[in-house]
Amino acid sequence: MKLKDIIAAAVVLGSLASPAAAEGNTAVSVLRAGTRVQTFGPPENFTGTVRVDSRFKGSDPARISGGTVSFEAGARTAWHAHPLSQTLFVTSGVGRVQHWDGEVQEIRPGDIVWIPPGVKHWHGASPTAGMVHLAFSEAQDGKSVDWLEQVTDAQYRK
Ligand code: MN
Repeated sequence: MKLKDIIAAAVVLGSLASPAAAEGNTAVSVLRAGTRVQTFGPPENFTGTVRVDSRFKGSDPARISGGTVSFEAGARTAWHAHPLSQTLFVTSGVGRVQHWDGEVQEIRPGDIVWIPPGVKHWHGASPTAGMVHLAFSEAQDGKSVDWLEQVTDAQYRK
């Protein structure tokens, strides 16, 4: 399943599960733990085992969506970009992030990663420890990610 499909599924789940989707809604909604369907990052867009939990999407006119992404050791996204940026909050483990032509940077719990609009990058676990981050992005014309080529082992271990 592609992330865009995951996001699409999250949209459906969000509209089904969230009272916030109701027209004219003014109430706070709580998406209960355990009510989200866990999905896995598809091999087209990820290397290794990547789980996505707690997906959510704000109701219009909000553009935000997000979820909790868990990378096993060695797992990472493909190269990609977000039309309106992405913010990552690292919650556990040891991870890595890199933008195109930039250095691989180690990221740890408590770190916040800001990825500006349109910047080609990847993120994932370290080779020897898994990593979990919360990820938030906003959609532009309904799209929050543009997928590119895989991160090679040579790029990953640089
Ligand atoms: Mn990203």
